[in-house]
Amino acid sequence: MSERELYCDSCQGVQLFEVPPCGDGHGADCPELSCTGCGTAVLIATFRFDPTRLADRRPSRRGHRRAA
Ligand SMILES: [Zn+2]
Ligand SMILES: [Zn+2]
Repeated sequence: MSERELYCDSCQGVQLFEVPPCGDGHGADCPELSCTGCGTAVLIATFRFDPTRLADRRPSRRGHRRAA
């Protein structure tokens, strides 16, 4: 996931956004995207790292795990 299409206010339309060079150490999980049309940087709220999932990692739940 390095590119995605989002609505850009500056371009007033859907543009292709890409992850800009991150200087904060986020790496592939950087929440920033920049518009390839005008360069506007935006923050996305879809974090793949969900804190609630980490809290739910109890040993009792690792029974049947299907590889999907
Ligand atoms: Zn970043
Ligand atoms: Zn734009």
